[in-house]
Amino acid sequence: MTTLRLSVDLDGVSVPLHECDWVLRQPCGCVASMMHAVTSLMALTSEDEAWHEFYCEIPRADKRRRAIAAAREQGHTIALMTIDDAVRAWEVRCTHGQIPEPAQQAPMFDPTDPAGISSDVNA
Ligand SMILES: [Zn+2]
Repeated sequence: MTTLRLSVDLDGVSVPLHECDWVLRQPCGCVASMMHAVTSLMALTSEDEAWHEFYCEIPRADKRRRAIAAAREQGHTIALMTIDDAVRAWEVRCTHGQIPEPAQQAPMFDPTDPAGISSDVNA
């Protein structure tokens, strides 16, 4: 049986990809979102794949590409980090007054109407 193990070079150190997270940073540098580079379903082996996975809430590929391009233009970045480093970065609270960009791009969740009741009242 063949077992494929992917590893990456992070700052000169070889790290198994399954011990890494992709981290999406806001323009201020704080972490907006993160996800495992390897799950039971997939391995995200490139920055491009990771961008598309962060924006997977946008089902249409052309709209997703536009949203990604806009995010990059605004200064959002992604990086591959060890899970430990990613968690440490995630725990730093953003004091720059920004909200995570993916939340703005994805279909909006209305906290005052969590079940979407008001829009269905007369349906
Ligand atoms: Zn910040």
